[in-house]
Amino acid sequence: MSKRDYYEVLGVSKNASKDELKKAYRKLSKQYHPDINKEPNADEKFKEIAEAYEVLSDDQKKAQYDQFGHAGPNQGFGGSDFGGGFGGFEDIFSSFFGGGGARRRDPNAPRQGADLQYTMTLSFEEAVFGKEVDIEIPREETCDTCSGSGAKPGTKPETCKHCQGSGQLNVEQNTPFGRIVNRRVCHYCNGTGKEIKNKCNTCSGTGKIKKRRKINVKVPAGVDDGQQLRVAGQGEPGVNGGPAGDLYVVFHVRAHEFFERDGDDIYCEMPITFVQASLGDEIEVPTINGKIKLKVPAGTQTGTKFRLKGKGVPNVRGYGVGDQHIIVRIVTPTKLTEKQKQLLAEFGEISGNLPQGEQEEGFFSKVKRAFKGD
Ligand SMILES: [Zn+2]
Ligand SMILES: [Zn+2]
Repeated sequence: MSKRDYYEVLGVSKNASKDELKKAYRKLSKQYHPDINKEPNADEKFKEIAEAYEVLSDDQKKAQYDQFGHAGPNQGFGGSDFGGGFGGFEDIFSSFFGGGGARRRDPNAPRQGADLQYTMTLSFEEAVFGKEVDIEIPREETCDTCSGSGAKPGTKPETCKHCQGSGQLNVEQNTPFGRIVNRRVCHYCNGTGKEIKNKCNTCSGTGKIKKRRKINVKVPAGVDDGQQLRVAGQGEPGVNGGPAGDLYVVFHVRAHEFFERDGDDIYCEMPITFVQASLGDEIEVPTINGKIKLKVPAGTQTGTKFRLKGKGVPNVRGYGVGDQHIIVRIVTPTKLTEKQKQLLAEFGEISGNLPQGEQEEGFFSKVKRAFKGD
């Protein structure tokens, strides 16, 4: 049986936030809950939804899934959790419906570092042609002095005696329903399970220091406003030997003076005179690669679109190049000399003040006749 894409299962985009994921999961899991939904395949769907959420709500599993899909090195994510009937679901439900406390988590397990985001502003041309640029981002790095342990060189972090290294404490609470024991993050060690007696001076015991790091980014030709580029492994360092997070460069593309972009196509309006439109002309038009000549045929109407094939933006994924579209706008002259006025009046008289090229019974002729009462 081939597995469906987890994002598709939850009906969310790849950029969905944790909140959106949770909302989608809640809605679908209620809809397909086998206690509610009696359709024959409801419980399969329910399992599928739960598995998708299990993976996508976990940063590390999500990152792995994004990179490798279902065929990743950790095949069968969540499979064991969800293999044994409905027992496994309780865990997820409890965290939503206010049932239980924090999930048991090993504070010493390797965890992936946080992802970072950087917004890069590009000019219209830079987005079209791409560029290579060094950016500086502040990020946390492993402290060199203590190699990330947070303890003074020569000393070692000790196991937190309050939580015995589990990072969690049992908190008893009296409620109208009786005594309830909740698990909470240990506040003595902040859930790390370790206690540092002699803190490293460089990082004050955090094991990390803020550094500005230069990163070379190759902006691919054809990126568009709002698109993002993932630079793998350039996020914050992992914890307990886990992999580093990723850096996401989000592009903001500035508007151009006269080009407008729609996907890989470029649009540009060109003003022409009604004389050029009537008699035809060869005009110069701008493209992103410089000016080129365009033949405007005699009798061109305002709003006519001319396509310049392959003069658009290279597709960012390498699927060819877009086109440029020139839309001509015929400009009515406003400041006329006496001579020009006289010639235009003459032109009007000769043509009977009718638009040229009209059929005998064109729109204007009909209107004119109606008013004359013929
Ligand atoms: Zn502790
Ligand atoms: Zn240190």
